[in-house]
Amino acid sequence: MKDSDVIVLDEPRLSVADQFYLPQVLVGLGTTMKHMFKVLSGTDIVIQYPEERREDMPVEQGGMLLRTYRGVHRLNKDEEGRVKCVACFMCSTACPARCIHIEAEESPWQDREKYPAKFDIDELRCIYCGMCEEACPVDAIELTSMYDIVGLTRQEMIFDKEKLLRIFDQTVEDEPM
Ligand code: SF4
Ligand code: SF4
Repeated sequence: MKDSDVIVLDEPRLSVADQFYLPQVLVGLGTTMKHMFKVLSGTDIVIQYPEERREDMPVEQGGMLLRTYRGVHRLNKDEEGRVKCVACFMCSTACPARCIHIEAEESPWQDREKYPAKFDIDELRCIYCGMCEEACPVDAIELTSMYDIVGLTRQEMIFDKEKLLRIFDQTVEDEPM
């Protein structure tokens, strides 16, 4: 390496105000005040979560309920209450985050070859892109508008088949298939 290739950077000289972070503190206070005035004037909407919840997320247009929010997944059931999934692995193949784990087994039913003996989704790894529901040929997996999920451990946030089917039961009335 030649001496001319070396770039020497001088440490910037800080003013006394900079050394005490005064400009940054004032800019931060300005941002806080701006939001405070927006809230007081009614320009910003404040939701007192968790007592209040956002009910305005789904948008109704022309009598159709269009879901615009992609939240926690559910596994849909068919008319007989069985899991709709046929364990084709299309969703896990399409998933860019590689967070769907399926173990397929021979189906106990006559109308399909396979079903998922295990179906896990790592909800912390998921980026909620919706590729899985786009890829599913039988509309067995869907993203719901449920957004307030919590867990104390990482393991709790890996949703298994039973949990995903329970979410179907909880959401199907408000969000039909
Ligand atoms: S929403 Fe996207 S990242 Fe999440 S499981 Fe589906 S495909 Fe994977
Ligand atoms: S959820 Fe749909 S895409 Fe995924 S394995 Fe089941 S049937 Fe296939």
